[in-house]
Amino acid sequence: MPSPDLDVVVIGAGLAGLGAATALRDVGLRCRVLEAAGRIGGRAWTTYPEALGGAWFDMGAFWFHDAANNPLVDIARRHGETLLRSDELRTERTLVDGHLATEAERADYDAAWPRFEAAADALIARHGDVSMADVTRHLADDPWAPTIEAWEAPVICTAPADRFSALDWRRNALCGFNLVPEGGIGAFVSRRLGQGLDVRLNTPVRRIRWGGAGGQVTVETDRGAITARACIVTVSTGVLASGALAFDPPLPTEVQDAVANLPMGMAIKVALRATGADRLDLPPHCSVDRRVGREADPFVPFQFWPFGRDYVQGWIGGPLAWDLAAAGQDAIIDHAMGQLRALFGARVDRLFVGGGRFVTGWDADPWVRGAYCYATPHHADARDRLGAPVADGHLMFAGEGCNIPYAGTVAGAWISGQDAAKAVGACLAP
Ligand SMILES: Cc1cc2nc3c(=O)[nH]c(=O)nc-3n(C[C@H](O)[C@H](O)[C@H](O)COP(=O)(O)OP(=O)(O)OC[C@H]3O[C@@H](n4cnc5c(N)ncnc54)[C@H](O)[C@@H]3O)c2cc1C
Repeated sequence: MPSPDLDVVVIGAGLAGLGAATALRDVGLRCRVLEAAGRIGGRAWTTYPEALGGAWFDMGAFWFHDAANNPLVDIARRHGETLLRSDELRTERTLVDGHLATEAERADYDAAWPRFEAAADALIARHGDVSMADVTRHLADDPWAPTIEAWEAPVICTAPADRFSALDWRRNALCGFNLVPEGGIGAFVSRRLGQGLDVRLNTPVRRIRWGGAGGQVTVETDRGAITARACIVTVSTGVLASGALAFDPPLPTEVQDAVANLPMGMAIKVALRATGADRLDLPPHCSVDRRVGREADPFVPFQFWPFGRDYVQGWIGGPLAWDLAAAGQDAIIDHAMGQLRALFGARVDRLFVGGGRFVTGWDADPWVRGAYCYATPHHADARDRLGAPVADGHLMFAGEGCNIPYAGTVAGAWISGQDAAKAVGACLAP
C-alpha cells in the first residue's frame, strides 16, 4: 500500500482547525488544513461595512470571554495586540414597562440571576436534567425569570428555551470578564493564527472515507483526493447534520446521535446607523435591555453607540432569528425598528430612517448553517461524545460543539482542536 500523503488532514480553518494544525505542527506531524471558504477564521470574521461607515465589524465572534483563562488572550498579548476592556467601557440600562428600572427593581433583577441558577441546579439534581423553560415555569412567581431565560437561552445560547438543556447551560462557563481585540477577532485570527500552517482555501471536502488499512483516511475534494494517517473534522454540527460532507462508511450511531442532539441555534446581528445627532440620551457603548413578559414576548437586546460609533446594534437569537432570517432582511430591520420604537417611541424613526443598515446571515452560509450549537435536554454529554475518538483516534471531531466549559466560543473551538490534535498524536505515536 502506498504511504499516505500526510500524517493528518484537518477539515476546516476556523478556530478549531487552526488550533489543531498549530498543535500538530508543534509536535512535528505533517498536516494540511482544507478549507471550503476563501478565507481562514470561519465564524471569526471581521468585515468593514460601508453602510456603517467602514468601521470594523465582527460578523460572528466579538468577545474573548473569560479573558483571565482564555488561551487566545495569551496569544494576543504575546503578539502585542491591543485588547479593549469592553466591560469597563460598557454602561447598562434596563427598562421596566417603559420606565428606567428603579433602584429596587435593579436590585431585584441582580438577585434574580442566582435565584434562577439555584432553581436550575435543584431541578437538575432532582431530574437529571430539565429544559430552561422548565426552570422558568418552576419560578412562576419570579417577575425576572422570563428575562433571564430570554437572555440565556435564545440570546446568549441561541437556543429555544424548551429544547435547551439546563445542564448544558450550567456546565458552560462564560464567566469572568471579556476583552475585545482592537480591529476585531476575525482580523486578529487572520493576522496571527494562520502563519506557518499549510492551509488550502477554496477546497470543500465532499467525502471522507475512513477506517482504511492501518486507520488510513481518504479525503475527497473538488481538487482531488488526499490520503492521511488520521483526520480531524472541525465543521459545525449544522454542516454535519446536513449531509453536505459524506462519510463512508457512515458515522457510528453514537456520533450521529451526538450531532442530532447538538442542533445549531441562530443569531442575527442587525445594525442601524443614525442619521442625526440625537443619541437617545444614552452614553456611548450602552447596553439596553428590558424586563420580558411571560407570554410570547420576543426580546432583542441592543448595544447603542458601540465604542462611540454612530450606530445601534441589535442581537436577535433563537427561533425568532431563524424565522426572521427566512423572512429576509427587510423583516429583520422592521423587527429591530419595532423593538426600538417600543423602547424609545417615534424618536427612533427620525434618527434611523434613511441611515445605513447591516444584517448578518449565518443561516445562509453553507459551510456553517447557523450560529453555534446547543445541547438538548438530557443530552449535555453529546459534546463529550462528539469529541471522543472514532476508529481508535484516526478520525476525530473538534469545534465549538465539542468543548466544555467554553461551548459555542472561539476559545472552546481552539481548545477542542488542540485536544483532538493531542489524541491524534497519541494514536499515531510509534
Ligand atoms: C453571531 C455570532 C456571534 C458570536 N460571538 C462570539 C463571541 O463574542 N465570543 C466567542 O468566543 N464566540 C462567539 N461566537 C462563536 C464562535 O464564533 C464559534 O464558536 C467559533 O468561531 C467556532 O469555531 P469552529 O472552528 O468550531 O467552527 P467554524 O468557525 O465554523 O470553522 C469551521 C470551518 O470549516 C469550514 N468548512 C465547513 N464545511 C467544510 C467542508 N466540507 N470542507 C472544508 N471546509 C469546511 C468552514 O468554512 C469553517 O471555516 C459567535 C458566533 C456567531 C455566529
